[in-house]
Amino acid sequence: MQQALLISVDELWLKGKNRDDYFEMMREHLREYFFAQQVGPFSIRNQGQRFLFEFRGPHNTIPENLINGIRLLPGLHTIIPVECVVERTIEAMFAAAQRSILKMKSKKWPFTFKVETYRSDKKFPMNSMEISRQLGHQLLEVFPELKVDVHKPDFLIEVFVEHEKILVASEYFRGMGGLPIGTAGHAVTLISGGIDSPVASYFMAKRGLAQTFVFFHAYPYVGDEVKEKIIKLVALLAPSHRTTRLMVIPFGKIQEIIGMHAYPEYRTVLFRLYMLKTAELLAEKINAGALITGDGLGQVSSQTLVNLSVINTLLKLIVLRPLIGLNKIEIIEWAKKIGTYETSIMPHDDACALFAPKRPTTRANQDYVKEFLLRHPLGSEQLSALSTAQIYAFDVRGHHTKLQNFLFE
Ligand code: ATP
Ligand code: MG
Repeated sequence: MQQALLISVDELWLKGKNRDDYFEMMREHLREYFFAQQVGPFSIRNQGQRFLFEFRGPHNTIPENLINGIRLLPGLHTIIPVECVVERTIEAMFAAAQRSILKMKSKKWPFTFKVETYRSDKKFPMNSMEISRQLGHQLLEVFPELKVDVHKPDFLIEVFVEHEKILVASEYFRGMGGLPIGTAGHAVTLISGGIDSPVASYFMAKRGLAQTFVFFHAYPYVGDEVKEKIIKLVALLAPSHRTTRLMVIPFGKIQEIIGMHAYPEYRTVLFRLYMLKTAELLAEKINAGALITGDGLGQVSSQTLVNLSVINTLLKLIVLRPLIGLNKIEIIEWAKKIGTYETSIMPHDDACALFAPKRPTTRANQDYVKEFLLRHPLGSEQLSALSTAQIYAFDVRGHHTKLQNFLFE
């Protein structure tokens, strides 16, 4: 039995050259992914509006974890494992359909089913209707417990009659949807060890936004263990990116200065502002067009409408906050779904807690914040933080290597 994958893309409304470019970027991401998974020789061909992935070597069955990984690639609608029927006879098609019914047996029994045929080889002696009817009829003979339901079947068996071979599909996996990574540009994602920011990153990757991750590390006020946690989180998000980077930026010095000179109740807002300012400086250097955070409206004191607005007026770049309207419970559900939750809830030292005022302001005064920024621009501190950042590169599997700091050579 020879298995293959039919992979369909999600948003096809684009026309002409853009569409070709999107397809090409999607194919590249898939190719890198399969290559990294060491599946052996393979090919990815266009099959109408979809990709057909086939093994070219001795491998011929699709491992389940391979499919789970593909579900993290932005831009894909459905992943369908198919059996390739080389003989192109109704008997061979029937044998494949029978195997897929037996495979379903462990999940549910009995069930209703439907056979649907698409014939791109118009010279095939039977038409689509005849093939569907014949296969359905034969299946009912072998499995009398089953019933056909043409409107809402539990189980759909699709048959694609192609020129070289026939594909029989029975299982369907939903992809992440959205747009191929990189097609929406590039952003800097502020990732902390919490639950929210990895989910925010996932949402923007889904819309095709490639990302460089930054973590502001309050060294020496916080130990090195938190770094391992952040590396783990980025590794979990990495399959959605073809390659990505994490910069661990030392932030203790800047926090210390703010701690020394600002009203205590303004520390939280100012920490956030200087993080965003530093991220903006980085974005300028690496040509990124936006910042991403995991802010949710009203979630904590730094995320009130007033505080978010004050911060915004002092930034040039757009700040994308995809979680702004989500409830914490909803964010947690997403974190579980994308597999970051378990890592996010691991305890870690938090310097914000260390410096945190007892009563952080929820209504920052814009003039005060502006004035503080004028008096303490901390430009050289920001540059020095960036130039001493530790940089890690991640591949599509989430494996990482440490890089030389490349920013200010
Ligand atoms: P999360 O929001 O990820 O659960 P958190 O709740 O600890 O973490 P908040 O205090 O809610 O973080 O901060 C809001 C957002 O600011 C985060 O989602 C993240 O985008 C950014 N942020 C906070 N702390 C850091 C940090 N140390 N490094 C990078 N970004 C940070
Ligand atoms: Mg948060």
